[in-house]
Amino acid sequence: MSAVVDLHLHTLASDGRLTPTELVRLAAGRGLKTIAITDHDTTDGLAEAFDAAREFPGLRVIPGIELSADVPGDEVHVLGYFIDPGDPELQAELSRFRAGRVDRARTMVEKLAQVGVHLDWERVQHFAGDGAVGRPHVAMAMVEAGYCREPKDAFPEYLGRNGLAYVERVKLTPEGAVGMIRRAGGVAALAHPAYMNDMESGIANLAGSGLSGMEVYYAKYGDDTVRQLGRLARQYRLIPCGGSDYHGMGNSDELPPGEAGPPVESVELLEAAADAARGKR
Ligand code: AMP
Ligand code: ZN
Ligand code: FE
Ligand code: FE
Repeated sequence: MSAVVDLHLHTLASDGRLTPTELVRLAAGRGLKTIAITDHDTTDGLAEAFDAAREFPGLRVIPGIELSADVPGDEVHVLGYFIDPGDPELQAELSRFRAGRVDRARTMVEKLAQVGVHLDWERVQHFAGDGAVGRPHVAMAMVEAGYCREPKDAFPEYLGRNGLAYVERVKLTPEGAVGMIRRAGGVAALAHPAYMNDMESGIANLAGSGLSGMEVYYAKYGDDTVRQLGRLARQYRLIPCGGSDYHGMGNSDELPPGEAGPPVESVELLEAAADAARGKR
């Protein structure tokens, strides 16, 4: 545990396993001072999280989101902070993405059957509940049915980009994701840059498209990677962000909220950037 800020957390509203209330209590109990809830393609967990945070005056909850975008041969995730969850255009886009997620997950279940992995769609739906369905829910159904030991084991062979059952998502470019976030009054940050095939050119390409920050502190990144990302953030004048990307999914290598995160100044810079951008509109 090294951080008091964690700007990357998932709840049951997408593919996390804790309710927003449970996550807020866990974060407060771990001594966090600022957290952002960044569910995939939904802001549905935010209201409950804000409500739960009233129990903890020392904890601030920032509205966030994580959008998935594609570039040729690779996937890029873009985080948004200080977005207005009440923005109708944002919500219309998110609804469209979530509907696409249902079609995608169904197609994955069909493709899995073709390679001998037989799942009941109802079990995937069960794990997703009312939340935005994602590959981790398919992976959980695979664990339950005995095809793998933990959710992450389903990715290399089946659900990952080069896996047998991979299905493309609704098309969104990283620049499109940044634009969506900005139009909703927020600021955008590149998520887990070191997962990109070519991190340096990926950052360089996006830095000029309205991006405000990038993740530097990430629970699974070692010191060398964090230092390298810190240098790139300075080079491209991006606010250093980060967090645990906690899901609570039951993977043995998962690290808890607060395991990594940026300094408090980064939150101030993000908020100032969001205020400045809103003032300009
Ligand atoms: P989706 O939103 O359906 O594309 O699923 C993306 C989510 O799947 C990520 O946010 C992670 O939670 C999870 N994920 C992606 N790749 C892996 C992997 N190799 N191992 C474990 N989880 C993964
Ligand atoms: Zn996720
Ligand atoms: Fe991500
Ligand atoms: Fe995430």
